[in-house]
Amino acid sequence: MSILIRQVQHHDELVDVYIDGARIVAIGDCADRTAETVIDGRNKAILPTFHNAHHHAAMATMRSYADDLELFPWLHDHIWPLEATVTEEDIYNGARLACLEMIKSGTTFFNDMYWYFHGTARAVEEMGMRAALGAVFIDMDDTTRRDANREQARRLLEESQQYSDRIQFQLGPHALYTVSGEALAWCAEFAAEHQLMIHTHLSETEKEVSDCIQQHGMRPPAYLDSLGLLAPNLTAAHCIWLESAEMDLLAERGVKALHCPASNMKLCSGKFRFSEAQRAGLQIAIGTDGAASNNNLDMSEEIKLAALLEKHFTGDPTALPAETAWHAGTRSGAEIFGLDSGQITVGALADCMLVDLNHPRLVPGHHLISDMVYSADSSCIDTVICNGILLMQNQHVDGEEEIIAKGREYKEKFRR
Ligand SMILES: [Zn+2]
Repeated sequence: MSILIRQVQHHDELVDVYIDGARIVAIGDCADRTAETVIDGRNKAILPTFHNAHHHAAMATMRSYADDLELFPWLHDHIWPLEATVTEEDIYNGARLACLEMIKSGTTFFNDMYWYFHGTARAVEEMGMRAALGAVFIDMDDTTRRDANREQARRLLEESQQYSDRIQFQLGPHALYTVSGEALAWCAEFAAEHQLMIHTHLSETEKEVSDCIQQHGMRPPAYLDSLGLLAPNLTAAHCIWLESAEMDLLAERGVKALHCPASNMKLCSGKFRFSEAQRAGLQIAIGTDGAASNNNLDMSEEIKLAALLEKHFTGDPTALPAETAWHAGTRSGAEIFGLDSGQITVGALADCMLVDLNHPRLVPGHHLISDMVYSADSSCIDTVICNGILLMQNQHVDGEEEIIAKGREYKEKFRR
């Protein structure tokens, strides 16, 4: 499939962008080219799509199910009992709803952690997005569960081959308070052996840190390091309760920090110190977390929150400028997962969006990236392309009505 976008704004210039197959093959004057799909790019700008670095897609059907609670009662008394009842079909329906919302807000990749790998994988495959999806580990120190988790990881690694290369298989040990040391060490070895990424939650709450010291005599980063987990293939969500030396350690090991400002604020988990982490050399990407703790999946909102929070916490209005926030929501996530996306250049994957420059939020347009971070919301996004395929045009995604209807059934199904 080929797409020609004519006369679209790119870095303050009007250009044609030619997409052939999965990649952008030309930017400039393409007057002599023809394509199967031609898009009028006038009054639009082309930008890379968002990469949502920490997510639990299937939780979209749990949006507003249990709000205004502390993290542990929220998990123990509401989320985990509900999760114990869900089926792979529920996961598929939840993930499709999440994918729809993400496409409509300009996201084409997400780093996920959730049960029923195939439910989410099917949704991602059908919706045309990219994702890193994993085998979740939660063994609660139970050897039977640990063996089952390990067996599942081996099996899913095999079964994940049936999907396209838009889906990356990884391991998802939930957190050090739900996964035993033995299982964490096994994850590190298995991932190294098969070149897999590992996705976990780290130092999200003060309680996690004090419990870890009590149980293991070490703070969380030292504990994970002792198990061989701190490595460049580890993506760690939240990273809030870190001492400065721990930021240095994570940076030295090449661990990636995933910042979730809305979820951190909503659950009062604490302050992620973006500027300090960046100075320590940590690579940082931004994610929405799941819909049960955000509650939307809008990355333009998330990058704005990240920028504003950092300014607020540091008392420094120059902290986390728009370009840095934009990078953390787009290219950084792509880099972490080895994707040639998150940028509009010749040869890059054609994962891009067209924003409407006539939208009042983008006028007069002194600085597009500042406008995208501080002013825009998803209503500014008109068109979304992933892997050279049109996923949304004129703000419409094929099949969206059916996905919404299916999602609405969960108001009854997950009745509180
Ligand atoms: Zn999470």
